[in-house]
Amino acid sequence: MKNWEKYIRKVEPYVPGEQPENTDVVKLNTNENPYPPSPKAYEAARDFDFDRLRLYPDPEAGVLTEEIARRYNMSSDRIFVGVGSDDVISMCFMTFFNSDKPVLFPDISYSFYSVWAELHRVKYEQVSLDENFNIIPESFYRENGGIIFPNPNAPTALYMELEKVEDIIRHNQDSIVIIDEAYIDFGGKSAIEFVDKYDNVLVVQTFSKSRSMAGIRIGYAFGSPALIRALNDVKFSFNSYTMNAYSLVCGSAAMADEEYFNECVAKIIKTRENAKSELTRLGFEFPDSKANFIFAAHRSVPAAYLFEELKKRGIYVRYFNKPRIDNYLRISVGTDDQMKKLFYALEEIIDGCNSGLKA
Ligand code: PMP
Repeated sequence: MKNWEKYIRKVEPYVPGEQPENTDVVKLNTNENPYPPSPKAYEAARDFDFDRLRLYPDPEAGVLTEEIARRYNMSSDRIFVGVGSDDVISMCFMTFFNSDKPVLFPDISYSFYSVWAELHRVKYEQVSLDENFNIIPESFYRENGGIIFPNPNAPTALYMELEKVEDIIRHNQDSIVIIDEAYIDFGGKSAIEFVDKYDNVLVVQTFSKSRSMAGIRIGYAFGSPALIRALNDVKFSFNSYTMNAYSLVCGSAAMADEEYFNECVAKIIKTRENAKSELTRLGFEFPDSKANFIFAAHRSVPAAYLFEELKKRGIYVRYFNKPRIDNYLRISVGTDDQMKKLFYALEEIIDGCNSGLKA
């Protein structure tokens, strides 16, 4: 081993879902929105003054922060924006999780949390979900150096009622509690109200799911002015220009289009509810989803097999080969047409298995 090799920071990276080049596939593997971004964002993109790219972007991300502030009726000193919520959360780990005590998050959750903890050299412990994948608030009643959990949780899609979220916060006034609301717009109630009530709470949201803009990379956090200042201090010590000029303009236009946002979210919820009936009919079981995906296990056909067979038919879903969840598929909610193709393919695969068993 060369001497310098000893000093390389070694991390096992997060593995994102596949992004196949073939655009013909039915892509239900990364919880993207199947509908296009707001037409207002298109207009903003069309009118974007390309010459502006000569200049550095606004380091304060002013237009976007102001638009988010307007939408959520929140002062802009309570808002931090970043390059997707991944960037925002990573920045939170760096800024707030520096205690000797472990940071806590659920054992079945967004797998990036442990990657950030390793990267930023933060001690962590994973707390167990109950046998139905619910977060148990009492499991967070112990000394810690911070807490983070998604609501709804991923990949289970289970939503936790706000009383329980508040219970976790109330029992943890000495640490920062981060609620990752990547999927909150699909039927849950946001914990934003706790940002005013508790100065140790951060709520993180994203443009990637309900706003159909995973490619633009915008995420944001709400928190007390002191927390937002601390985040900005770290950001400005790291990279002042995280938000590019184009994203700022297109993102703020999309944020202003409430009508389109509501329309898309309603369509996805309707398709999801129909998908629950179809999946039940096909013999699947799943926790009740309040997200734009369903975490489903089939009663007789193994998930790994279904995953491979679907892929052969050009249908991509997500499969995690991990303890307790290795018999589940995480299926993003697509358009009605995409879901029809999925159900057709599943029926074919499952029937094939059942007739194989009978033969
Ligand atoms: N949190 C959760 C729970 C997620 O599932 C995702 C999507 N992979 C993110 C955060 C990050 O999303 P983005 O960086 O696209 O905002």
